[in-house]
Amino acid sequence: MNKTAPTANIHSFESLATLDGKGIRYGIFFVGCPYRCVYCHNPDTWSGEGQRFTVEELAKKVVRYKPYFGKDGGVTISGGEVLVQSAFVAEFEKRMKKEGVGVVLDTSGGVPLTDDVKRALKGAETVILDLKFWDDAGYRQYCKGSISTVLDTLEFCEKNKVPVWIRTVIIPGINDREECIDRYAEVVQGHKCVERYQLLAFHTMGFSKYEKLGIKNPLEGTPALDRSRLEELQAYLDSKKVTVND
Ligand code: SF4
Repeated sequence: MNKTAPTANIHSFESLATLDGKGIRYGIFFVGCPYRCVYCHNPDTWSGEGQRFTVEELAKKVVRYKPYFGKDGGVTISGGEVLVQSAFVAEFEKRMKKEGVGVVLDTSGGVPLTDDVKRALKGAETVILDLKFWDDAGYRQYCKGSISTVLDTLEFCEKNKVPVWIRTVIIPGINDREECIDRYAEVVQGHKCVERYQLLAFHTMGFSKYEKLGIKNPLEGTPALDRSRLEELQAYLDSKKVTVND
């Protein structure tokens, strides 16, 4: 572990969640993120000081929920961007392994592949990887970052046989057309590590956080994506058979 950072900066927890991985999960949200996505619904996780935990303290919190995890459940670590604290994450995963608790690592892929990031990716039972846009121009315009680390993360998981679920948020007026889905599919196609590709609907539930934090909301006035449109686009994506299970 990085000796100068023996604790993690944690934003919040969610007990017994059913999203973000298989089965019943305990969610841990880490502070920090290199991106600034226009559709972010958690701007409160970008920076600042949350609660500090050592690996042992965090493990204690998770272990209390072990009886609920069953065969498929476990812990999901997310953010913000969890890999900003990759040295801690790699140690935490080792500790969870000892407990027999699987870790799903939910990442934007926005962090360069340092040795600690590689260790953290390899230590996860599944990596949930955002593919926010299909090219660098999209990342630059809407996330204030680059796609290159995302592609590097995907290739690393492919090479190291780490199972990946891809996720993309669909935003009305930005990426909600079939030709956008074609482009996303091109990026993912041919990767044997990709087990699922799930589209998520843009929603407006995070809007109040922008107001509270005094940050300008770049998508103010944009409506939530209609559920039926999401289903249409998911069916279109599924028809392209880009995952290993298709
Ligand atoms: S990567 Fe996630 S937490 Fe970071 S700005 Fe984008 S949506 Fe928000």
